[in-house]
Amino acid sequence: MSTENAVTSFSDLELPAALQRALDEVGYETPSAIQAMTIPHLLAGSDLVGQAQTGTGKTAAFALPTLARLDMSQKTPQVLVLAPTRELAIQVAEAFQKYARHLPGFHVLPIYGGSDMRGQLRQLERGVHVVVGTPGRVMDHMRRGSLDLSGLQTLVLDEADEMLRMGFIDDVEWILDQTPEQLSLIHISEPTRLQV
Ligand code: AMP
Repeated sequence: MSTENAVTSFSDLELPAALQRALDEVGYETPSAIQAMTIPHLLAGSDLVGQAQTGTGKTAAFALPTLARLDMSQKTPQVLVLAPTRELAIQVAEAFQKYARHLPGFHVLPIYGGSDMRGQLRQLERGVHVVVGTPGRVMDHMRRGSLDLSGLQTLVLDEADEMLRMGFIDDVEWILDQTPEQLSLIHISEPTRLQV
């Protein structure tokens, strides 16, 4: 990845005004290294394999450009983030919500085992832009036909190495096999755990 054109402020990234406003409010002044390197590529819809530790701003690095590319009028999910644990799924969903606070009608849904299925079905029926889930529960919804991935634009594997370590590889492959051909794939691992 080229770092020739150093990005020193969020305004250099030319994010939509609604996202820039949210960043101003949460007080982010400068993009972190991973954000400066990845956001321009992800805004263009490129695939990405990245290594980033928690605390480096990796969530915003994929959340901001995927939010920038959303079609707000589409009812079926456009972004699916797979995460190894419910804690991470909730945390990532909250981050999307925070950055999307000025996108009217935006909906993100965390789905994980043990959470209320009926509420999830209702929200999926109403329409969501982003789904963040653990692989098992995502598969449940796909099997029962409640999660329509035909309009998916981006698939993020967050802490992919951890999902591998926890034995989710077959589940992740099963999900990947049923996503559209034209998909931007973002794959993030911890640098210390796996050399990609
Ligand atoms: P993450 O690595 O995604 O877990 O993010 C770590 C923390 O850094 C979170 O609390 C974010 O809200 C915060 N953060 C992310 N990007 C920035 C930024 N560019 N400037 C300041 N804080 C940030």
